Amino acid sequence: MTALLPRPGVLDISPYQGGRSKLDGVAHAAKLSSNEGALGASPRARAAYLAVAAELHRYPDGASEDLRIAIGKRYGLDPARIVCGCGSDELIGLLVHAYVGPGDEVLYSQYGFAMYPIYAKGYGATPVKAPEKNLTTDVDAVLASVTEKTRIVFIANPNNPTGTLLPVSEMKRLRDGLRPDILLVIDAAYAEYVTRNDYSPGAELVDAGENTVMTRTFSKIYGLGGLRVGWCYAPASIADVLNRVRSPFNVTAAAQAAAAAALEDTQFFDLCLAHNQMWRPWLTEEIRKLGFEVTESVCNFLLVHFAPGDRAKAEAALTAKEVIVRPVAGYGLPDALRISVGTEEENRRVVAALAEVKEGAA
Ligand SMILES: *Cc1c(COP(=O)(O)O)cnc(C)c1O
Repeated sequence: MTALLPRPGVLDISPYQGGRSKLDGVAHAAKLSSNEGALGASPRARAAYLAVAAELHRYPDGASEDLRIAIGKRYGLDPARIVCGCGSDELIGLLVHAYVGPGDEVLYSQYGFAMYPIYAKGYGATPVKAPEKNLTTDVDAVLASVTEKTRIVFIANPNNPTGTLLPVSEMKRLRDGLRPDILLVIDAAYAEYVTRNDYSPGAELVDAGENTVMTRTFSKIYGLGGLRVGWCYAPASIADVLNRVRSPFNVTAAAQAAAAAALEDTQFFDLCLAHNQMWRPWLTEEIRKLGFEVTESVCNFLLVHFAPGDRAKAEAALTAKEVIVRPVAGYGLPDALRISVGTEEENRRVVAALAEVKEGAA
């Protein structure tokens, strides 16, 4: 009997490993392993979510129309060219599904988000990594890695797990240097956290042609990771393609309602941004003062580097203080940990734990 085999490439996938969410025997550990937002979800989003309970037997609006209109209003974009998804992960997967086939190449940056190679392999394509400089996407290296088989280039901007970004001029130079038949996907999951004025999430590049898509999410600053809702802004032709291949009811009614309410709660949004603006630099400074290297981040997390051997000690010290962080060895960064910005109390616990590592090493 011949074994039932999936499409070539599928068994080459190492399943995505999310951040741990539990410590044995600890009821409420500080979960700083998935960048979920220090302050949780907007109270208005939670109320909207609860209100949907009365209508659970109804299918959601398959077009996510009210949500697309709300996104369009908030971000100044044409709702007809917005497609919502079950997390931006789904949209990233659908783009690969629709535009990439066996033998094609999907190009991304060395420390780019782990889902790009996973989806590429799942559709029989070859993931190709372009080397980075200073833990930052290197446009020249990306361009030099393009071959005639390249179909999609994924750039997370800013990137997870490094927290670094490409300025708008560099992203434009990348687009200009790519063949027009290569899709550029700008994954701007952390865009809302960025306050630098040389940055743009990429909407104007989407508008400038027929071959660039920007993906966004409600899982990060909006704190709705548990609901799975993301969106993308695309040229009309690509939005049309995504609407053909997506599931008919890919965003649940609760997700649509909560996300739309979250967009309206600008007061809570401002609070989350202000919190991050205050605690990211504080955490960066305090950890650097202890003598550890921290990559300058524009996001709600930090990449902290340790001497070989100290990473495991740091993780143990953090675990002892009931703090969960993210190892990033899978990204080729075995001596680093990614730590989300948490509440004031959580951030202080992180610093106290790392201080013990320093003392232990001295
Ligand atoms: C969190 C994250 C996503 C996925 O977000 P979802 O909308 O929850 O699927 C995509 N890209 C990057 C870079 C992320 O960090």
